[in-house]
Amino acid sequence: MRWVAATNNYDKLREIRNILCAHGIEVLSLKEVGLDIHVVEDGSSFKENAFKKAIEVHGSIKLPALADDSGLVVDALGGRPGIYSARYAGENASDSENNKKLLEELEGIPMDQRKARYVCAMVLVENKDRVYYGIGECEGYILEKPRGDNGFGYDPLFYIPELGKTFAEIPEEKKNAISHRSMAIKNLLQKMTLR
Ligand code: IMP
Repeated sequence: MRWVAATNNYDKLREIRNILCAHGIEVLSLKEVGLDIHVVEDGSSFKENAFKKAIEVHGSIKLPALADDSGLVVDALGGRPGIYSARYAGENASDSENNKKLLEELEGIPMDQRKARYVCAMVLVENKDRVYYGIGECEGYILEKPRGDNGFGYDPLFYIPELGKTFAEIPEEKKNAISHRSMAIKNLLQKMTLR
């Protein structure tokens, strides 16, 4: 099976590839299929944005298209940055600018109130009659200082109590075993087998 990942985020692409490789599914990038497309993410939920990306990419190339819309939901911030995670500190903000803004917003909030979760919505549009949706979450806490060099985005601040480490302090295989992204893919694959 060959799917196209409807993303221009190479960190997401790498994780999706590695997770799906174990299921015998090859994942192509937009570049590999010669598609230069930037879908406007103007939905009001992870689910809506994932549907929009998968539908637009599938419409452009007629191959099965898989879209991931994901982000960080922080309880003490009323769910922010949520669907705006990639552009929390502004349009085209870097990971370190987003992390800096997150730390500023959480300044003075004690550790036990820094609960957060990563959420990932995955949509596969195989063809117009076969569309699948999966959702995954992963719980943690936002540290006061970044730790580790692996991963991407908010990973150096995202601490998993059960591991005693952030997502940036563990190898990618370990992150992929428990992440919101792998849970969403698992959920989607389960629904495909039920069809
Ligand atoms: P999207 O491209 O609109 O789905 O934005 C996803 C954003 O959420 C990324 O740019 C990161 O800021 C954040 N994010 C999602 N998943 C992860 C993850 O696994 N690690 C770190 N940050 C993530």
